[in-house]
Amino acid sequence: MSYKIAIRKNATGEIRVYELERCDWDDASLFWLSRGQGNFGCDCNRELEFVRAGGPGPEDDPYWNELETECGHERFDILYAELPDGSRHEVDGPENPYWAEWLEYLTRHPEQA
Ligand SMILES: [Zn+2]
Repeated sequence: MSYKIAIRKNATGEIRVYELERCDWDDASLFWLSRGQGNFGCDCNRELEFVRAGGPGPEDDPYWNELETECGHERFDILYAELPDGSRHEVDGPENPYWAEWLEYLTRHPEQA
């Protein structure tokens, strides 16, 4: 069962919803999505999903398939994950149990703030 994530491009405020196909929701999912923690904590991955949420590109579209994105921690926020049953889990915010770890990380790496 796949679930969806709502990604906001902070420069414009635009929010897109992307379906993570073949991804089951489990205990590690919030960790995986969380800033400073999992694969989707980094803007390079978040930007890819934001672009792909705009619609499928042609198979041979080099922009869509070979998009190069930069790492960072401020350009994209994941607002929530929406599960197949309609429930939502906050990702970049205090309700995420990993949020406190992220804030603690920022105190040690102020350049990432
Ligand atoms: Zn990265």
